[in-house]
Amino acid sequence: MDIAKSVTGKTKVIALIGNPIEHSISPQLHNTISKYLGKDLIYVPLRVEHDELEIAVRGLKAINIEGFNVTIPYKQDIIKYIDEVSWEARLIGAVNTVKISGGKLYGYNTDMYGFIRSFNEETGTGIRGRRVLVIGAGGAARSIAIGAAAHGADKIYIANRTKDKAVDLVNIINSHFGELACIYEAEEADKAYSCLDEFDVVINATSLGMYPEIQASPVSEKAVFDPNSIAYDAIYNPPKTRFLTQAERHGCIIINGLGMVLHQGIKAYEIWTGLVLPESVRKEIFESFKNYIYTCL
Ligand code: NAP
Repeated sequence: MDIAKSVTGKTKVIALIGNPIEHSISPQLHNTISKYLGKDLIYVPLRVEHDELEIAVRGLKAINIEGFNVTIPYKQDIIKYIDEVSWEARLIGAVNTVKISGGKLYGYNTDMYGFIRSFNEETGTGIRGRRVLVIGAGGAARSIAIGAAAHGADKIYIANRTKDKAVDLVNIINSHFGELACIYEAEEADKAYSCLDEFDVVINATSLGMYPEIQASPVSEKAVFDPNSIAYDAIYNPPKTRFLTQAERHGCIIINGLGMVLHQGIKAYEIWTGLVLPESVRKEIFESFKNYIYTCL
């Protein structure tokens, strides 16, 4: 994009707020979508200092931009400044997408959508009726586990280093979807998970294995997976984490977090613009961005 020619007084603006934001792939993703669609819309990252969230949000509202993404560490704190919060964001307890309309802020969480859509597309089936183990209880795990519950998983097991957070997530799921969820504890000896052959889907939603700590995994080297099961990692850098390598050795279908991050981003774009991206355009963006991201990371 030639900014000198393409950004004019009519150009609409979407922002990303967080701290840090330098690592984010969202500017490339959203500006790629605008380029594909020929939309006069630019996406810019803005680092917001700690204790300045409220003033930043008031500023974004005052300058009448279309909306913004919210990333770490403000996804939870932002909720108190939002006028209307979607049911998904309310349950997950985090907002990652805000649309500004008529002077009001509308908050959404598109991570759940991103997970479900990528899971459905990449497995060719869905999560309905499956026994799912989610390892982790942070933001990604909450979106994934609540998404699995909302889309008909048979049973959801939550495993997390900090048990209180796992208990909190189990309680949220059970109070909204019936007695679906329970705690899963690591074997005492090494605190890594190893008896995984009772699950249809095993999901790593911890940061263990993310670049640069690529040797880490929440799963023991001795772990046993059901060869017919699916291993899903929310991490997309590296594209094949140690967890996915371990599962692949047992014959599992493996899926990384790239689909989730791309689909959640496209959903946010649709929320801001009111557009529904045609399937063909979505596929093109997906392929071009996949190539782009793995040559840049
Ligand atoms: P978060 O809220 O900070 O949660 C981190 C999770 O990892 C917690 O469950 C934490 O356990 C666990 N964890 C961290 N270090 C650990 C360790 N040494 N041993 C055991 N558990 C550990 O982060 P998040 O936003 O959920 O992100 C988690 C991962 O998902 C990251 O790699 C992120 O890049 C990825 N992600 C991907 C997408 C996507 O669209 N693909 C979206 C969001 C996040 P405790 O609770 O015990 O601290």
